[in-house]
Amino acid sequence: MRKKLLLGNWKMNLLQAEAKVFAEASRALTQKAKAMNVMLGVAPTYLSLQTVKNANPELIVSSQDMHFEAKGAFTGEISAEMLADIGISWTLIGHSERRSYFGETNLSCNKKIKKALSLGFTVVYCVGETAKEYEENQTKQVILDQLTVGLQGVTEEEFQRIIIAYEPVWSIGTGLNASPEHAQDICSFIRKTLATLSSKSRAEAVQILYGGSVKPANVKAYLLQSDVDGALVGGASLTVESFEALLTQMA
Ligand code: PEP
Repeated sequence: MRKKLLLGNWKMNLLQAEAKVFAEASRALTQKAKAMNVMLGVAPTYLSLQTVKNANPELIVSSQDMHFEAKGAFTGEISAEMLADIGISWTLIGHSERRSYFGETNLSCNKKIKKALSLGFTVVYCVGETAKEYEENQTKQVILDQLTVGLQGVTEEEFQRIIIAYEPVWSIGTGLNASPEHAQDICSFIRKTLATLSSKSRAEAVQILYGGSVKPANVKAYLLQSDVDGALVGGASLTVESFEALLTQMA
C-alpha cells in the first residue's frame, strides 16, 4: 500500500524569517499528517533548508536541486555532499523550471539522480510535457524519454528511493489544470514504464505525484485516481493555511 505524499515546492519564495514562521506553525500539521498516514514535506530555498529543518524536525525537508559533482569550480552550485552535511536527504530533480530556464536535460538529470541516490537521498524526479508537446499528442513519448534517460543506471535497491512527479509544464503556475483523467492516464503510463525499467513489483511501490496548479479545491479529484499518490504543489504551498487546507483534503 503506497503512502500519500504532499510536497510543497517553494521555488524562490519566502525569506528565512517567513520560512521559520511557516515551519513552526507546521508542527501541528505534521502531527495531523501522521494521524492521516500522509507524508508531508516542503522544498525551501537552499538558504532556508536548515532553518525549516530545525524548526520542525518531523517535516520532510527537500532541496529543489543539487549539482552532480561533489565539489570544485562550479560557481553558484551546491553539491549533494553539502546538502547531506546539513542533514538533507531529499531532493527534487528536473523541475520544469530547471529544464526551461537553466538548460537541464534528461542526461544532466540522470547524473544528478545517480549521484543523489548513491548518497542515500530520496529523489523526486519531475517529468512532464510542454503545451506544444501536449497539443501534438507527444506527451507519452516525452515522458518515456524523460524516464528512460533520466533513470538509466539506477539500481534495483535505489529504485525504492525514487518518487516521480508528473507535472504538465502548461499547468504549472498557470491555473490551467490537467483533468484528473489525463493525470491518471499519464501516471498509469509512468507506472507501466517504470515496470519495464525495474520490475512490476518495484513499480507498484513507487509514489507518483501530480503537480500543476493544485489547490485545496481540486487536490481531492487527483487523489481519487488510482495511480496518483499525492501532489507536488507550488503556489498553494506558500502559506500554512493553504497547506493545511490541502492536507485536510487528502483524507
Ligand atoms: C510546482 O512548482 O511544481 C508547481 C506545480 O507549481 P504550481 O502548483 O504553482 O502550479
